Amino acid sequence: MKLLVTGGAGYVGSVCAARLVESGHEVVVVDDLSTGHADAVPDGCKFVQADIAEAASGLLAESFDGVLHFAAKSLVGESMENPQKYWQGNVVTSLRLLDAMREHGTPRLVFSSTAATYGEPDSELITEDSSTRPTNTYGATKLAIDHAISSYASAHGIGAVSLRYFNVAGAHGSIGERHTVETHLIPIVLQVALGQREQVQIFGEDWPTEDGTCVRDYIHVTDLADAHLLALRNAQAGQHRIYNLGNGTGFSVKQVIDTCREVTGHPIPAKVAPRRAGDPATLVASSRAAREELGWRPERADLGVIVRDAWEFTRARHQA
Ligand code: UDP
Repeated sequence: MKLLVTGGAGYVGSVCAARLVESGHEVVVVDDLSTGHADAVPDGCKFVQADIAEAASGLLAESFDGVLHFAAKSLVGESMENPQKYWQGNVVTSLRLLDAMREHGTPRLVFSSTAATYGEPDSELITEDSSTRPTNTYGATKLAIDHAISSYASAHGIGAVSLRYFNVAGAHGSIGERHTVETHLIPIVLQVALGQREQVQIFGEDWPTEDGTCVRDYIHVTDLADAHLLALRNAQAGQHRIYNLGNGTGFSVKQVIDTCREVTGHPIPAKVAPRRAGDPATLVASSRAAREELGWRPERADLGVIVRDAWEFTRARHQA
């Protein structure tokens, strides 16, 4: 297939672009490089540096078989302080992309959605039927886009799949997480192991969880990328399907830090700090639908493997 990948210079987008090229697809990456890195765009992709809202119609005029839409603003804290950046950057841009798909009859869309669309869960395992009450602006914008996709899919015959990621981590060989402003737990802990930070802060030890720290469902970025290939293959004209992607097992912040200590051999000093605004206590996915309907089989579910791959990537970049 000939595919347009928005945000293909970012973490998840570049790993997916690499997987698509490895599977023999023709890939054009469009990215404005506001947070991505040009050298993260995998070999074998054509790269266009452009504002997606402005470039979408011109690009899709070239007759594509599908779009994988990763480009987004994704910092929860920033989304609360500067909502305009998120409503404009995420929702308005996605609407322009959907309009360009309608205009040129692009048949398939895979969208990078998020567990943040659910907010505070009302059951232990979050399913696609769980209520969607986002606790932050980032999640609200992604949910709004999911609603828009449903309307466009049924009205204009687009075959769409939204994938709701839980906590993505790990690396795909030499492609990994390189945020300028790092807020995610595993990369921050690994920065301590590298000596780039003195310690990690644990945001709250008084949560209603077993050890008092927040519990999350970590998923390997390569397993996540593989789900996109399956979604693309299974997209049905006129339908919008939504699938959770996680491993169904929760790990606390303390368990993650312990795993990082084992993998790196570094003592990783940690200090308890106040809770972070907008954090739910526990987020764990049921990915039964993705397994049953897409045939998705995560192969790197072990937290030790996820941390090991992230660590190898981080160390290699540090030494380069
Ligand atoms: N966290 C932490 N210290 C940090 C960064 C994150 O304790 O320096 C916690 C955070 O409060 C959350 C979990 O680690 O409970 C995962 O956070 P992350 O930002 O990686 O992902 P999120 O779940 O917010 O998408």
